Amino acid sequence: MLSERALAAFRSALGAERVFDDAATRALYAQDETPRHVEPDAVLFPTSHNDVVALVRVASEHRIGLTPRGAGSGNVGGALPSPGSVVVSFECMRRVLDFDPDNRLIVVEPGVVTEEIDRIARGAGLFYPPDPGSGAYCRIGGNLAMNAAGPRAIKYGVTRDFVLGLRGVTGSGQEIRTGCRTTKGVTGYDLTRLLVGSEGTLALITEATLKLLPAPQAVATLRVCFASNRAALDAVSRVMHQDVTPCALEFMDHRAIDAIRPTGAANDLPPGTRALLMVEADGAIQDLPRQIAALEKSLVGDGLLDMRSGFTRDDITLLWTARKSLSQAVKQIAPLKINEDVVVPVSQLADFVDFIDHTAAAQRLAVVSFGHAGNGNLHVNLMVHPDDEDEMARAHIALEALMRRVLELGGTLSGEHGIGTEKRRFVPLEIDPATLDIMRAIKQQFDPHGLLNPGKLFPD
Ligand SMILES: Cc1cc2nc3c(=O)[nH]c(=O)nc-3n(C[C@H](O)[C@H](O)[C@H](O)COP(=O)(O)OP(=O)(O)OC[C@H]3O[C@@H](n4cnc5c(N)ncnc54)[C@H](O)[C@@H]3O)c2cc1C
Repeated sequence: MLSERALAAFRSALGAERVFDDAATRALYAQDETPRHVEPDAVLFPTSHNDVVALVRVASEHRIGLTPRGAGSGNVGGALPSPGSVVVSFECMRRVLDFDPDNRLIVVEPGVVTEEIDRIARGAGLFYPPDPGSGAYCRIGGNLAMNAAGPRAIKYGVTRDFVLGLRGVTGSGQEIRTGCRTTKGVTGYDLTRLLVGSEGTLALITEATLKLLPAPQAVATLRVCFASNRAALDAVSRVMHQDVTPCALEFMDHRAIDAIRPTGAANDLPPGTRALLMVEADGAIQDLPRQIAALEKSLVGDGLLDMRSGFTRDDITLLWTARKSLSQAVKQIAPLKINEDVVVPVSQLADFVDFIDHTAAAQRLAVVSFGHAGNGNLHVNLMVHPDDEDEMARAHIALEALMRRVLELGGTLSGEHGIGTEKRRFVPLEIDPATLDIMRAIKQQFDPHGLLNPGKLFPD
């Protein structure tokens, strides 16, 4: 537990009303989306950049680990407290500091909810493209730390592509500013890109300057049913090999379709549907028919069963029913979802999904795969019973086999969820010792006492 001296120092730095060490608060902040539970020694609620500077200095003096936290929606244990650490919750830092439509930018504190940024931008005819599925409640600080992304990444890119500059505090309490307010700038090393995706291990982010784009006028959607995973994934390659870039290209495999059948959400899919693609285009209203026609042409091929388009809000909502029902439906298969988010080159997706099938059969596991096929980013969900030791052992064998196959195919371990605590053991499979040494040296430079998000990202 925290010493009385350290607790008093945090209280004097932030004000007593911003420092909680009672059992109820510690229990509330003991978890993210992973099933693990580690209570922090206390929870701090800074309200400004200066508060963060002050609390890091106290932590540094008393050598207390700090676990930064947005909404705790991460899937890899990134915001899971390490034993003996203190959670720094950014919930109370949610001011929009500047909104500048003339320069297409917005400056926000880390606790601002992601969708709020998009909502504000749209009020001036602009938009903020990164659209993680958790956008209604996750915080921009968490998105920055994980380099979050969503379906629109295929056309617009990921969080990192929309960050012009950052303000933050390193592990030794140094205040830093990176990047600039302009869309061009090459002065010095690109520390902005380094901090985005660093999972809270290099600096606590206290402010972000984000780039905005003109909002597309309208969206149109295609729902495309196929007789096999391979037929759908071959179609993905054809879509990526023509000149209209969709703003979403999402895939569901046969097990995902089986999972939604009991909910009724698959009732209007043609018989024999074993894979589904959701394809969207956006842009000027008069250009959408042209884009949709080009996409339809590329989607036609062996195994195509049905293709429906929607141009109105109601039709689009209806077409997304099957996909949107999936998250709830998979929860009926087993109590625990081991949720991987690997990436392979788009042209290797079909082979990789075959490999998932073989692995699932060999290890007798229920595995449901879906995801952002246009980026080659698949959510491979191993549905397991945590009390079944034998099944859990088989799941771990399957996981390692999947990770190795991803790398053989030229892919990467994580497309958007990050490493956190859950994937640390796989990191040496992808990153060689010399490169890992450089990363450790960078960590040492930013955080000499190892206080920022201990136990994350790096393998033991
Ligand atoms: C239903 C659901 C759907 C999801 N869909 C997607 C998706 O489509 N795409 C996607 O990318 N992710 C998705 N996620 C995962 C998760 O929502 C994202 O990783 C998100 O970016 C986490 O934001 P958060 O505010 O919850 O951060 P947290 O989970 O609280 O923290 C995430 C990481 O950020 C660090 N951190 C938080 N704030 C700061 C800060 N100010 N400075 C430094 N480090 C900080 C934390 O220490 C932790 O390592 C989904 C999760 C759920 C539950």
